[in-house]
Amino acid sequence: MSIKLAETAGFCMGVRRAVDMVLDLAQHKGRKTIYTYGPLIHNPQTVELLKSRGIIPVAHLEEIPPGEAGVTIIIRAHGISPQERKGIKEKGLKIIDATCPKVGRVQAIIKKHAAQDFTILIIGDAQHPEVNGLLGYAYGKGLVINHPADVLQLPTLDKVCVVAQTTQSVDEYQHIVDEIRKRFPDAVIFDTICDSTEKRQMEVKSLAEEMDAMIIVGGKNSANTQRLAALSELQGVPTFYVETANDLVAEKLKTFKKIGVSAGASTPNWIIDRVVDNVTTQQTEQAPKVKYLLKLWIWMVRTDLYSAVGAGCLAVASMFLQGLEIQPPYVLITALYVYAMHTLNRFINRQTGSIIGSFREDSYRRYEKTYIRTAVLSLIVALGAGFFSGPVPFLFLLIMSTLGILYNTNLAPAGWRFRSVKAGRSADPDGGHGRVLCLYLRDRVHPFGPFRRPGYTK
Ligand code: SF4
Repeated sequence: MSIKLAETAGFCMGVRRAVDMVLDLAQHKGRKTIYTYGPLIHNPQTVELLKSRGIIPVAHLEEIPPGEAGVTIIIRAHGISPQERKGIKEKGLKIIDATCPKVGRVQAIIKKHAAQDFTILIIGDAQHPEVNGLLGYAYGKGLVINHPADVLQLPTLDKVCVVAQTTQSVDEYQHIVDEIRKRFPDAVIFDTICDSTEKRQMEVKSLAEEMDAMIIVGGKNSANTQRLAALSELQGVPTFYVETANDLVAEKLKTFKKIGVSAGASTPNWIIDRVVDNVTTQQTEQAPKVKYLLKLWIWMVRTDLYSAVGAGCLAVASMFLQGLEIQPPYVLITALYVYAMHTLNRFINRQTGSIIGSFREDSYRRYEKTYIRTAVLSLIVALGAGFFSGPVPFLFLLIMSTLGILYNTNLAPAGWRFRSVKAGRSADPDGGHGRVLCLYLRDRVHPFGPFRRPGYTK
């Protein structure tokens, strides 16, 4: 059995940008609640996760309790109409605009052509918030069509401008445009379907041709995910449209040898990863050893033990490659230090999103105390081992641990360039200190150092 994950599966640029903006804002919000005008993305699991971090969706402005000072409201990637924007401003709310720039472009096209007396035909779903926002920019001169037959129902029009909802199906759009051209040959037509949507749909089509079955992952309320599932079904392959890994039914998947997986633009990677993990685990039922190893591997990655083992191996490899005697205390110190720093930093940094939405989130939330205790204990043991190795290793480890713990802590007021150790950041959750520790150990067991293997010559 093989599983192929579509390259385009998961957050598109606009959604990623909106989520990043919100998480960044959440980091500095203190105890204040942040509101989003409608759910930030069409993914119930992510919306729930954000709610638990004080980011609350409201369908109407009246839902915001009166008297809250300095309330911030976020406009999601779909954008809103100018009339809605005016209403928010009149309420005195602070707006953070996460409208996707590609949606902004469509709004600008509509605004410009409406001002020139064009009738704007928007190809899309009239119920979708993006279309509702776009319609507002036509200032009463817009019509929404969603089917080729709708074109025949249109009245006689003089000047026609055509745009599409950014997540519209490419094929459907083409059929509708063909009909529009027949009725309004002078229509000005803009293909405003987002290239990310187009690529995603193309990939689902070609993947569906190769595979025995397809799994499409995403919110049941996500229009673009619904379109992917419909597109996959149209290719004639059995298609399973699931919101999370819990919706998968092992029995139904057993007979398929090649399974393709894709996901909508609002599906976070951690949900996709869980679906892929789940299918992989279910499909290896005939080989219990492989299944067990796979589970063990996932558990080690999830708990960050793999980082500790990796760091320990790196220390051993470093000593080995230099022809030095393997020093178990240093291997232990490295592994424990890296584990402690990875784990503690994930907790210190969790408001900024390092584990928000990651596949570790659930485990870290459920066993928070155990993780913290284990990490602190690891650090104490590492420092103890350092202490018995001598004053220099101990002092060095102490400085590195302090820097590691301060990695995500703001030490200077907002606005300062080097506000935290992270300012010169590395992608590692331990701030790259693990690498520095390895370099230190390399020097410590260097031929000129005290732990040189007898007989070793440079
Ligand atoms: S699908 Fe395209 S237009 Fe819509 S939010 Fe994503 S990147 Fe922006």
